[in-house]
Amino acid sequence: MSATPNTVTVIRKAKFSAAHFLRLPELSDAENLQRFGPSSNPLGHGHNYEIEVSVQGPVQAETGMVMNLKDLKIILQEEVVEPLDIKNQTRECFSGQDPAPSAEPKNDWERPA
Ligand SMILES: [Zn+2]
Repeated sequence: MSATPNTVTVIRKAKFSAAHFLRLPELSDAENLQRFGPSSNPLGHGHNYEIEVSVQGPVQAETGMVMNLKDLKIILQEEVVEPLDIKNQTRECFSGQDPAPSAEPKNDWERPA
């Protein structure tokens, strides 16, 4: 992402921890273990996540800012950290089905609507 002379980019990071497991309900325990390895354990396992959000735009003449970083912190907290932190993503966030049951967490992640 490159900025033009009249734009500024602000970046804010947030961290959270969450658990999940990789299983397909139509498979037996042995088949899930064969396909997903120890990640198929229905008790789950945890990961630590870090999200980085960039906002780019023109500096507002009234505020001298692109966006108030305090507002961005609140959005990240409400939209990402609170819904996912210290949760079992498979059971509590994605209705019992991991969004990508064939793989461990991806670098590019999209929150479901
Ligand atoms: Zn995992």
